[in-house]
Amino acid sequence: MASIEDLKKKSSLTILLPGGELPLAILHKVNELCARYRFGIYLSTVQNLRLYGVDEKDLGPIKSELAAVGAEFKGPGKFPLPKICIGSRSCNLGIIDTMDLSRKILDRFKGRENVKPKFKIAISGCPAVCSDAMLTDIGLVATRVGFDIYAGGKGGPTPKIGRRIVRGVDEEKALMIIEELVDFHDRKTEKKQRMAKLLDDPEFPYPDAV
Ligand code: SF4
Repeated sequence: MASIEDLKKKSSLTILLPGGELPLAILHKVNELCARYRFGIYLSTVQNLRLYGVDEKDLGPIKSELAAVGAEFKGPGKFPLPKICIGSRSCNLGIIDTMDLSRKILDRFKGRENVKPKFKIAISGCPAVCSDAMLTDIGLVATRVGFDIYAGGKGGPTPKIGRRIVRGVDEEKALMIIEELVDFHDRKTEKKQRMAKLLDDPEFPYPDAV
């Protein structure tokens, strides 16, 4: 593998993996391309697949071969993929199918453009909150009586637990609240801004923790 200094001069490419699922066609293609172009592969902290150490001249061909097997790439303005835990598909504590809900969220919102950077969503399949939903701009936590929703959480050097804004809502209501929060964030944000900074805005629709 190249030195860190050499790697810094090279490019990278991030393949979006909704729900952290890695389709076999993409897996095979990445394997084949890696053998040919010799780049590194990293599973990112938000469940995407980053190809790093790529020569600039190889980016175009690599991208088009991956696109041909259905890969989509990270890019500015795209609606964020929810970060999810595995949920009921493979966890005994899972109350909901987190991948299914992630798909529903993306189906509803992925057509949006110019989504501000740094905006994140997370879903946890039970109150153990393995996907850090309380530390995310919008976090959904499944409980036995519906979804609790948190707003304004963040990680990083000054982490904050989000404000629990509703408790025990059903899925359709949860989707409506996500839409309300996304619209609010969009309206109040010029470039990039974590939801945490908007919690005390006089127009924030959920002023009180519940
Ligand atoms: S949050 Fe709950 S359902 Fe999700 S992985 Fe953790 S224990 Fe399992």
